[in-house]
Amino acid sequence: MKTLEYDLHIHSCLSPCGDDDMTPGNIVGMAALKGLEVIAVTDHNSCKNCPAVLHFAEEFGILAIPGMELCTSEEVHAVCLFPTLSKAMEFDAYVEKKLIPFPNNVEIWEPVYI
Ligand SMILES: [Zn+2]
Repeated sequence: MKTLEYDLHIHSCLSPCGDDDMTPGNIVGMAALKGLEVIAVTDHNSCKNCPAVLHFAEEFGILAIPGMELCTSEEVHAVCLFPTLSKAMEFDAYVEKKLIPFPNNVEIWEPVYI
């Protein structure tokens, strides 16, 4: 039986919990350094970094599965993995239409630079 090294729940800079350094290129590069063979970037309610992640992963010989962490208004978080990039981007467009638009409150969400 073959075993795989994987991480199917990675956030990029698109997620509120993701660091600005978590770019698609950095994520894939670090995954390669760690010896991961399969990864999924699952940003909160977004697949928008999946195309770049899949591009860099192919260059490093890593299998990248398109993903999203769907976050509901009830704070249910579900990791969603998709069979193809196009299915992921279809779901991304669907979810984006459902997001509640609200202005950014800089008192709460202002970035802190150290
Ligand atoms: Zn998460």
